[in-house]
Amino acid sequence: MGKGANKRIVVIGAGIVGASLAYHLAAKGAQVTVIEAGEIASGVTGRSFAWINTTHLGHDPIALLRGTAIDAYHRLETQLPALNIRWTGALSYSADVIKACGASASVSLLSRAEIQRLEPNLKHPTQQALYKAEEGALDAVQATHVLIAAAQALGAKLLTQTPVSGFTTHNATVTGVETATGSIAADTVILAAGTGIRALAAMLNISLPLAASPALFIRYKAQADLINGIISSPAMEVRQGADGTLLAAEDYVSDAPDHQPMAIALQTAKAIQHELGAITAIEPDIACIGLRPMPEDGVPIVGYLPGIDGAYVCVMHPGVTLAATVGRLVSEEIVDGVLAAALVPCRPQRFLEKSTSV
Ligand SMILES: Cc1cc2nc3c(=O)[nH]c(=O)nc-3n(C[C@H](O)[C@H](O)[C@H](O)COP(=O)(O)OP(=O)(O)OC[C@H]3O[C@@H](n4cnc5c(N)ncnc54)[C@H](O)[C@@H]3O)c2cc1C
Repeated sequence: MGKGANKRIVVIGAGIVGASLAYHLAAKGAQVTVIEAGEIASGVTGRSFAWINTTHLGHDPIALLRGTAIDAYHRLETQLPALNIRWTGALSYSADVIKACGASASVSLLSRAEIQRLEPNLKHPTQQALYKAEEGALDAVQATHVLIAAAQALGAKLLTQTPVSGFTTHNATVTGVETATGSIAADTVILAAGTGIRALAAMLNISLPLAASPALFIRYKAQADLINGIISSPAMEVRQGADGTLLAAEDYVSDAPDHQPMAIALQTAKAIQHELGAITAIEPDIACIGLRPMPEDGVPIVGYLPGIDGAYVCVMHPGVTLAATVGRLVSEEIVDGVLAAALVPCRPQRFLEKSTSV
């Protein structure tokens, strides 16, 4: 066990990021309490397409971190097979993605015949598509429950329906959190509350540029075995769940009537029917907006908050992709005191330095 084992750690938020932190910290012997305003995975994690997607267009400031994402999930699934990750591979055939990633060693450029072998139900395969065989997806809600249950089996406590309303502090050190039912003491408090982090940081007089970025999550009832992997094209981003449901993610356009989630779900269903030959019926089951926690510069915010001891922040998009690796690296930082080179570009200091220098 590391030198910080037995540390009392409060994790605010039981989305996939908080759940992964709780599991990794508890596995290192920390005394973890997860405090959640709603229920497990009731935030954006419950509305995620949940593709473990390591593709990034252009210069990637977190290439080192992203490069560890898949291995971290492989390691985690050996400990927690119930995560049930489906390593199906992912096909992308947007021209931008092919142009940006086509030369990379970690992807294959497939011909039309190869695309058709991989996804026989695609009616209009393009000349070329990018294929990442090592990518996959999971059921983010189920995975979050699995992580929380595993943390609890290691002694972690979970409080749901308990919003954190403030912090207790002493001599510029956070000593715990306040809730409607009382305060909870901690040596370290981790803000893993997704879009709720902005308000929590403000309670510590820290302004973090974190937006709530909308995207549409759609689930369809459809027949099983339509597609084998993840398909991302200009027309649709779809995959099929283990239970046969078809899942899609779409950009949020506006709150105009024809851009409402159900209207987009019906338009997307038409696009899917156009692309997939074998489809006989497709019916939207759920169509909703999810608010992704989006740092202003697109880079995760992970590290101790400057100017106050004992408060650590952990927030990012894409949170599903990075949850396993970040959970592991953050637990090593907090419990073992080992700082991760992969997290250096993510430090919150970068925003606070900017705001004090102007
Ligand atoms: C349509 C869509 C598709 C997506 N697709 C992908 C994808 O393919 N791959 C990918 O990696 N990511 C994807 N994402 C993004 C991903 O879902 C998020 O990055 C990730 O779920 C964030 O997890 P989180 O734990 O940080 O936040 P959340 O799941 O929001 O968890 C935060 C929790 O904190 C709680 N909370 C907030 N304030 C407080 C408080 N004061 N006290 C106590 N609790 C509090 C909330 O109730 C919530 O449960 C997608 C998102 C959307 C909407």
